[in-house]
Amino acid sequence: MQVLFTDAVITDTSGRREGNVLVEDGVIRDVAARAAGAADRRVIALGGRTLMPGLIDSHVHVVASMMNLGANAQLPDAIAVLRSLKLMRGMLDRGFTTVRDVGGAPPALAEAVAQGLAVGPRLICCGKALSRTGGHSDMRPRQDIHDPHRWERNFGAMGRIADGVDEVRRACRQELRQGARFIKVMANGGVASPTDPIAWQGYSAAELQAAVEEAADAGTYVAAHLYTSEAIARAVRAGVHSLEHCNLIDAPTAALAAAAGAVAVPTLVTYEALAQDGPRFGFPPDSIDKIETVRARGMASLEVLRSAGVTMAFGTDLLGETQVRESEEFAIRARVLPSAEIFAAATTIGARLIGMEGRLGLVAPGALADLLAVEGDPLADVTLLADPARNVRLVMQGGRVHREALEG
Ligand SMILES: [Zn+2]
Repeated sequence: MQVLFTDAVITDTSGRREGNVLVEDGVIRDVAARAAGAADRRVIALGGRTLMPGLIDSHVHVVASMMNLGANAQLPDAIAVLRSLKLMRGMLDRGFTTVRDVGGAPPALAEAVAQGLAVGPRLICCGKALSRTGGHSDMRPRQDIHDPHRWERNFGAMGRIADGVDEVRRACRQELRQGARFIKVMANGGVASPTDPIAWQGYSAAELQAAVEEAADAGTYVAAHLYTSEAIARAVRAGVHSLEHCNLIDAPTAALAAAAGAVAVPTLVTYEALAQDGPRFGFPPDSIDKIETVRARGMASLEVLRSAGVTMAFGTDLLGETQVRESEEFAIRARVLPSAEIFAAATTIGARLIGMEGRLGLVAPGALADLLAVEGDPLADVTLLADPARNVRLVMQGGRVHREALEG
């Protein structure tokens, strides 16, 4: 079965050009196809609308269906899975055809999507994120002295505890064995966890180096949860490639990250969502107190990263009920960054970060047919992607039309 998009304005980071795009067997075959042709071909006339690559969100947690991550980790698996499927469908509806899950989702869930058993974005998983005792994946209340590992096999758990070089190595090997595509470590204090102030270092240099070595031995890299310059510098020196959040980064540390070729993944919308909606959706009081520390410096961090020349991918990190706000990240970044750079973050840069450069994030022969039909020109004004219900008129994933509203 072929699908031919006619009268499209093909748009990706290489620019805009008119064309007819032919899709066959889930792959883009031609971007200058003739309008006539085979009888078993479905023709979708775009009437001059933009045809662009599907979006890539490089920082999500599809298992995080509740804001209270301790409670989320204790959900029965059957309920946790079904809640995640609803979140995943929402992501695809908004045009995110691929997401990098940075803690929680098992690679088996990615397999379920690939087999067509679940409707959702292509998932690039790391399995459970690694955290020290008392770190960003230790969800026990302060007075809880019982086994810290007791929830970590649950579907709803975002992370697992691993202390010391040997445990870190073993945990990396276990996640990689199960199909993790990269390794995630919690290398700084976090907002959503109860006993780790933001400024705490999450892992020693030796532990980080061990994780980097294990990832490299398996042909991949480490992503680290980070806020402060001290923690970011330690992680970069240890060889960590993907720097999540980075809200409190200063200029010298950004220069260090740029020189190392690291990629930053800011996630600004989640701090807005936590500040506005956290209390009513049950975000714990200990965590509410920590939001402002990182939220206030979020916008400035974009300018620091850009000035230093750090490559930035698009991420959101939304929890629970606020996941519906995913697309707002486009509008928040657009207050500081040029539209074309934000567009690249959510397409080509995201594709490179998951090792799919040339296969995702562009409209070209040989690329996977993850495509959006969009109103307007997102290279000139990326904020139109912040309103997908209005502006994203068609979502195709792997050559299949998932959602379509081209009339009117
Ligand atoms: Zn996260």
